[in-house]
Amino acid sequence: MKKEKRPNIIFILSDDHASHAISAYGSRINQTPSIDRIANEGVRLDNCFCTNSICAPSRASILTGTYNHVNGVTTLDTHLDGRQTTFPKMLQYEGYQTAMIGKWHLGHGGNSDPTGFDHWKVLPGQGSYVDPEFITPEGSEKHDGYVTDIITDMSIDWLEERDRDKPFCLLCHHKAPHRWWIPDEKYKDMYEDVDIPLPETFDDDYSERARAASLAEMRIDRDLKPRDLKKPVPQGLTPQEEKVWKYQQFIKDYLRCVASMDDNIGRLLDYLDDEKLSEDTIVIYSSDQGFFLGDHGWFDKRFMYEESLRMPMVIRYPKEIPAGSVNDDIILNVDFAQTLLDYVGIKAPREMQGESFRPNLIGNTHDKWRDGMYYRYWMHLAHHNVYSHYGIRTKKHKLIFYYAEACNQPGALDDPRWQEWELFDLEKDPCEMHNVYKDPAYEELVKTLKLELSCLQEEVGDTPVLERLDY
Ligand code: CA
Repeated sequence: MKKEKRPNIIFILSDDHASHAISAYGSRINQTPSIDRIANEGVRLDNCFCTNSICAPSRASILTGTYNHVNGVTTLDTHLDGRQTTFPKMLQYEGYQTAMIGKWHLGHGGNSDPTGFDHWKVLPGQGSYVDPEFITPEGSEKHDGYVTDIITDMSIDWLEERDRDKPFCLLCHHKAPHRWWIPDEKYKDMYEDVDIPLPETFDDDYSERARAASLAEMRIDRDLKPRDLKKPVPQGLTPQEEKVWKYQQFIKDYLRCVASMDDNIGRLLDYLDDEKLSEDTIVIYSSDQGFFLGDHGWFDKRFMYEESLRMPMVIRYPKEIPAGSVNDDIILNVDFAQTLLDYVGIKAPREMQGESFRPNLIGNTHDKWRDGMYYRYWMHLAHHNVYSHYGIRTKKHKLIFYYAEACNQPGALDDPRWQEWELFDLEKDPCEMHNVYKDPAYEELVKTLKLELSCLQEEVGDTPVLERLDY
């Protein structure tokens, strides 16, 4: 029977977990044995990117397989209209048992509650790390304990109670390691006696970049709040010592949250082993976007720069994916839905805008696979004073246009600012410290990339913003 052969799916998604805090990606600052296990027994994707580096928009793209101007979730203030087609809805229709447990962050009530799930229990908004409340179709319930443990307990409970004659798709979506980085009690002293290494670009002075970079308010030395730091800043430090102290406070709590999550991922993997489900289950670990971990002197995300653009993505499916594989094709969050539908043999609907990368993971990338990706951040000046921008990233270059307008987006500030372009040569300057947009040596490349950018915009159906020549 065809249906009996369909794989199960466990999609673990975290919030703001940068790949450079995962040892499978070569982290210099921590170890993540459980995530590494998925990578070692499956595939690690090295060029997986989000198309808009904030929570709700990336989650909407993952579920619907569409860009934000299509699914309507361009900002944190635009909720998902659940009447759209999503991959869980299609799986449910095809006989899968589906569940959504943990962080939803796409709105509640009206058409924004989760749809396409036989079972859902989600955190309201961002949710709490400790003794969290959950929303269910019946109302709300409070749970004692640490959120990452609870989400895993609920996931395992649901797996225990499932109908064993049907395949399942479980979305286990963690809150961690999102701000305000509250660690579990048992890890509160982890890293206490060590200094976490500083990132290479910790002391970036933004001097060779667009002014949007220097105007962003996400600096470790200036913009972390007492609630982030949790302790008063010691007296008598030099400015540089204070910056390093703040970094240590922030990064240690962040990594402690990651440690709990990695433990819990291990718990879920062990459960699959115990239940002899590992062979038949596709296990995915990813995060809605990346994060600056002191890189460029920052915390947070939003920018199209590498640390925030890049999503970690590891997948295990022993029946098909060779253990220890690595793939470096440009893969996007809008591809996830179609890929999962492909694995279970469902044809993706026409409105989905990504492409299945299932063949890529066994070395069969077709010749016309994308060589550039389109990105857009819409929330002009809404958070951390970040300018709205869009751009293109190829394997070797990145062109960003800070169009710096609100474009009527909810939550964005209608205050047009300085427009500027940035071009990075990612081979020569992987840390993106030198904008070469005005370098004559790149003049031809700029023309080519601008053309490719407008082609991509047209292809995905987005509207360009007029370049104001004299602002
Ligand atoms: Ca996020």
